[in-house]
Amino acid sequence: MPRDMLRELILPRGHASLLARRRAEMIISRIRMIAGLFAILTPLWIVIDLLVFSWPVTILLVVGRIVTTIAFGVLAVSFRKSIRMRDAYRALAYMFSIPTLFFMYSHPLLSHFDMAGPAAAIAAGYAFLPFVMVAGLSVFPLTAVESALFAMPVLAAEALVALLQLDMLNWSSHLGAFWLLFLIATVAALAGMSQLSFMMSLVRQATHDGLTGCFSRTSGEELLDIQFHIASRSGAPLSVVFLDLDHFKKINDTHGHDAGDRVLRKAAETLRGNLRSGDILLRWGGEEFVIVLPGANGQTAASAVARLLKIGLGLRPDGSPVTASIGIAERLADSASTWHELVEIADQRMYEAKMGGRNRVVGCTPPLPQGAVVNG
Ligand code: GH3
Ligand code: MG
Ligand code: MG
Repeated sequence: MPRDMLRELILPRGHASLLARRRAEMIISRIRMIAGLFAILTPLWIVIDLLVFSWPVTILLVVGRIVTTIAFGVLAVSFRKSIRMRDAYRALAYMFSIPTLFFMYSHPLLSHFDMAGPAAAIAAGYAFLPFVMVAGLSVFPLTAVESALFAMPVLAAEALVALLQLDMLNWSSHLGAFWLLFLIATVAALAGMSQLSFMMSLVRQATHDGLTGCFSRTSGEELLDIQFHIASRSGAPLSVVFLDLDHFKKINDTHGHDAGDRVLRKAAETLRGNLRSGDILLRWGGEEFVIVLPGANGQTAASAVARLLKIGLGLRPDGSPVTASIGIAERLADSASTWHELVEIADQRMYEAKMGGRNRVVGCTPPLPQGAVVNG
C-alpha cells in the first residue's frame, strides 16, 4: 500500500476535497438512517420494560426512553443538506452521545435494584449498550484516529460506571468487560478503515479520467465550483487556463489512435508533474485540458503557463514538439461572477489563440498589477 494512502487511512488530513464531500455525505446519510431506525425501536422496547420491571424503575426507564426517542428523531431530520466533514463530526458526536447518556442514566438505575428472572436478563442487556455502540463505529468510513476519538467517550463512560459501582462487581469482571470493549473498538476501527479505503478507490475511479489520470470533466466542474466559492468568499484571485492541443487530429489520422493516446497521456503527465500541489488539472474533452490555479492572478497564471511551455508538452510521433493554443482568464480581472463564465472567457481566448495562428497564449487584458487583490 502506498505510504500516502496509509497516512490517509490513519488521519483525515490531506484528504482530497471530493473525497471529503462524498465521505461527509455518506456518514451523514447513514447517521440519519440509523437515528430514524432507533427513533422507532427505542419506544417499542417500553413494552418489554413495562412487562419485566416494576415501579419505580419502569417509569424512570420510560422517561429515559422518551427523551432518547426525541433526541434520535431530531437527529434523523437534521443535517439534511450538509456536505462538510465538520457537520459529519457533529452528527457523529450527537449520535454517540445519545446512547452514551442513556447508558449512564439507565445502568446505575438498574444496578441499584435487586432483580431476578427475566428482569435480571433484560437488565443485563442494558449493560451491553457500550458494546453495541463501539461495534456500530464499523458502519462508517472513518480513519483510525477518528474511530479512536469517537470510541473514547464510550470507553470513558464504561470506566466511569464501573468505578461508581465497584462494590457490586469485582475488579476482574470490570477489567474483562473493558478489555472486550477495547478489542471490539479496535476491530470496528479496522472495519471503518477498510470501508474508507474502498471508498477512496471508488472515488478515485469515478473522479479521474482513465486515459490521462486527470480529473474528469464532471468532477472537475465540482472542484471548480468549490474553488470559485472559496475564492469569492475570501476575495482571492482564481485563474483558469484553457489548453487545446494543436492539430491533434492529424496525429490520429497519420499515425493511428494509439499514437494519439500516447501523446495525450504524455502531455497530461508533463502538465501534472509540473504544477504546484494546489493546482488542479482536468481533462475537459478530447484534447482539451483546463488548469485551475487557486490564488493565482492573471500574471502568476501567465508565468506558470510560460514555465510549463518551456518544459514542453512532449513530442509528436514525427519528433516535432506538441504545441497548444492557450487562453487564460482570472476571476477578478475578468469580473467573472460564476465559474462557467470564467471557463467561457478562457475558452474564447483559446479560440483567439487558434485564430491568431496556434502555438500561443492569450491572457487577461488589462493584466492586474502584481500582488493586487480586489475584494469580490
Ligand atoms: P486544432 O488545432 O484546431 O485544435 O485542431 P485539432 O485537430 O487538434 O482539433 P479537432 O477538434 O479538429 O480534433 C480533435 C481530435 O481529437 C478529434 C478526435 O478524434 C481526437 N480525440 C479526442 N479524444 C481522443 C482520445 O481520447 N484519443 C485520441 N487518440 N484522440 C482523441
Ligand atoms: Mg479541441
Ligand atoms: Mg486541438
